[in-house]
Amino acid sequence: MTSTRASSASAPDTDPDVARAYDDLVALVQHGPRFHGTPGIAAAADWLEGRLTAVGLSVDRQSVALPGWQPGTVHRLVVRSPIERELPAWPMLWSGSTDGAVRGTVESVGPQGLWGDSMVWRKFVVRDDAGRPVAYLHARDGGPAAPQPLPAGSDLDVAHLAIGRLDGLQLTEWLDDGRPVVVEAEVDSGPVDAAVSDNLIVDLAAADGGSDPARGTVLLCAHYDTFFNTVGAYDNGSGTIALLELAERWAAKAPAVPVRLVFFTAEEWHLGGSRHHLDAASAADLEAIDYVLNIDGLGRGSFVEAFAGPEAFSTAFRDALMAYAAGTRPDLELVTRFPPTVGTDDASFHRAGVPSAFLTFNDLHRLHQPDDEPNLGIAANIAWTVPLAEHLVATLPRPTRVAPPGIL
Ligand SMILES: [Zn+2]
Repeated sequence: MTSTRASSASAPDTDPDVARAYDDLVALVQHGPRFHGTPGIAAAADWLEGRLTAVGLSVDRQSVALPGWQPGTVHRLVVRSPIERELPAWPMLWSGSTDGAVRGTVESVGPQGLWGDSMVWRKFVVRDDAGRPVAYLHARDGGPAAPQPLPAGSDLDVAHLAIGRLDGLQLTEWLDDGRPVVVEAEVDSGPVDAAVSDNLIVDLAAADGGSDPARGTVLLCAHYDTFFNTVGAYDNGSGTIALLELAERWAAKAPAVPVRLVFFTAEEWHLGGSRHHLDAASAADLEAIDYVLNIDGLGRGSFVEAFAGPEAFSTAFRDALMAYAAGTRPDLELVTRFPPTVGTDDASFHRAGVPSAFLTFNDLHRLHQPDDEPNLGIAANIAWTVPLAEHLVATLPRPTRVAPPGIL
């Protein structure tokens, strides 16, 4: 892409902060999909580091190595009976290969929890003539087919394909009518040696030099990796750019309290980047964190989910958001939930007993889609979220800690 200013030219009355967010987002997504372990994410990390060092910040890199996996190039699912129809399908992360085309009969298995039970999909098994499972199908709860990581313990020798909600309902309807459903599947995804990319960490001292002994550090984070099939403007180029723009603001004028910014990798790999960051931290490191604010997905529109824990912090976070929105964003529709879901990086901290909050403008039809590209709706929500985060960091007190949540 040559002219990133095309956006502001095509929308001449655009707020300069929105135009800037759009241009930054366009510059980030030029590196292509930022899937953990690929050249795209390495190039994006270099670009981010270049932007941060250009304003005088120093960047620490934390390497995150996980067992590797590649999505392959073939992901085909064709219904042969009761009618002929090809269904859009993606390999789930860590899916095995079918080793050529396989054919089998579809059977309903029941619900499929993903990211804990943050999402509950419909699951089907495809069996060959000998009754052996040759593939699993995972039908989304809303929207088009979108890949997600498989839960731990999944049978990774078998192919797992993500399909859309409506196709899942169609399969269910045929099966409920007692009609045999025969499909042909082919996917060539599978394990590779290793996948490595880096968390990027920036520490910022407070304006007063951190003289308040009652305060620790606020950890603000956003994952910059994407799924394999998208440049991820919404998920999570948007949070990445919000974090970058906060870094640039604080490089010019120090934050009210000490801040650690972390651009996490491998969020899509079951929070691999944040889990590694936790594993590498000492008990004293964790105690020094006042709270974590995770920005993941600033999509179009006004529907915000803001989940936090422990409960008292969830309420304080919600109150602060409502008060800020009352003066700046009266159309905001806010949903809070406690306990928080486990589908993004704050969950790593919540599980370790560190107070944590998560903010998203939910845009589910763009989630893990090839058309998750920059638009002015995302840019407007980045431009709103940057001063919001600055305000929260300056005003939210250190929450009282409670025991880590354990299993429930
Ligand atoms: Zn995300």
